Amino acid sequence: MPRPLRVAIGGIHIESSTFSPHLSTADDFEVTRGDALLARYDWLSPAQPWATDVEWIPLVHARALPGGAVDRATYEAWATELVEKLAAAGPLDGMLLDFHGAMTVVGSDDAEGHLVAAIRSVLGPEPFVSAAMDLHGNVSQVLFDACDLLTCYRTAPHVDVWETRERAARNLVEALRRQQRPHKALVHVPILLPGEMTSTREEPARGLYARIPDIEARDGVVDAAIWIGYAWADQPRCRGAVVVTGTDATATAEAARELGGHFWAARDEFAFVAPTGSMDECLDTALAAVADPARRPFFISDSGDNPGAGGADDVTFALERMLARPEIRDGSRRAVFASLVDPQAVAQVADQPLGSPVRVTVGGRIDSRSPGPLPLDGILEAVADDPDGGRCVSVRVGGLSVFVTSRRMQYRLLESYARLGVKLDEVDLVVVKIGYLEPELFDAAGDWLLALTPGGVDQDLARLPYRKVVRPLFPLDRDFTADLAVVTG
Ligand SMILES: [Zn+2]
Repeated sequence: MPRPLRVAIGGIHIESSTFSPHLSTADDFEVTRGDALLARYDWLSPAQPWATDVEWIPLVHARALPGGAVDRATYEAWATELVEKLAAAGPLDGMLLDFHGAMTVVGSDDAEGHLVAAIRSVLGPEPFVSAAMDLHGNVSQVLFDACDLLTCYRTAPHVDVWETRERAARNLVEALRRQQRPHKALVHVPILLPGEMTSTREEPARGLYARIPDIEARDGVVDAAIWIGYAWADQPRCRGAVVVTGTDATATAEAARELGGHFWAARDEFAFVAPTGSMDECLDTALAAVADPARRPFFISDSGDNPGAGGADDVTFALERMLARPEIRDGSRRAVFASLVDPQAVAQVADQPLGSPVRVTVGGRIDSRSPGPLPLDGILEAVADDPDGGRCVSVRVGGLSVFVTSRRMQYRLLESYARLGVKLDEVDLVVVKIGYLEPELFDAAGDWLLALTPGGVDQDLARLPYRKVVRPLFPLDRDFTADLAVVTG
């Protein structure tokens, strides 16, 4: 009997904006180790046939909601733990890196590259390393060089998260059993677009990602992956990428060249997944539209401060514009604002009896851009404990329920609204800090607009002060010929 393969698993999973004033610290992360880490992966219990005869060694996994840059000491603590546990793990055949790919650490422009280099320094060159990533991550040359297999999600919104991790693990185990180091090919595509222009629900991303199964079915190809990249970090690595891995060098390089060419050729077709406008334009349209019951609830994405992309989650710009509308203030329209993080404001009102009049200042503590902290004069409508947001309150001002949370969270699930007493089919208008609507909201929406609001993840990239991204870069630059060179390894 050959000894079982020994494969370590770990990673740090966050996407973090360099344009957001939020600082991600240890408190923002959920950390798993030991059996709890292995329990994340449903292919291990019960073990899928390909995963048996493998000893899976859990290191540490830390995961946070997207945010601002990660505090240096927080990152160093987990990087050190990963490296020390690897060094203590004995001989290893491989490692599965389970991470996002768009982590920013204060003072580093390529955090995952740094992490994987540290991992290689103890692992040595022989074991195979496979990375499972988000398609909004970035592939630097350092990361590409240090990994033998790299893949990412094929859907946005991401509904294939666990499939992707399983594929990365299975491809790793199969490559180890073949005892052949994979061939790999990388094409950087000089395009940087927000996720809200590249949803795979819409063309051209839908058609681009639909090419993958045919390519993957070719002889000599194991996996093909397309990274959209992360638009809200000002780093040289931020841009599109294609990586193909396989057992045949020529087939692998050819497939990467082809997919990279299709990505580049589609650049002018990418458009926002919903009609866009300023916050006031979106409110004008929505408040007129909700006279038609079929268009209720009307959703407006407060996209510039989307915590799901790294926004601070406390910019008050959109809320202030809502409160300026007489039909919302006088209660003739029923509306929800979801949400602002402000633990101080929650603590100030949460213990009062429901129905009490409350005066509280909310938001603008992390990201203080105009209009900053906003006074609310209303009624305490609901208090609830949310698994993501901690203690949450709803303060009613006229027809508007303003949700305030203790931790940063995104109102993407209907049950989160219900916890604060709101059934979405009974409201006219929902303004939510999100980009593209996640599936439950998408299905619930009578109509939807994407407001181009200010914040740390501003969708209008031309407004962001990029200095370090590699130019030329579409759409910041438009009139240039792309270098779509294939880098192999
Ligand atoms: Zn993503």
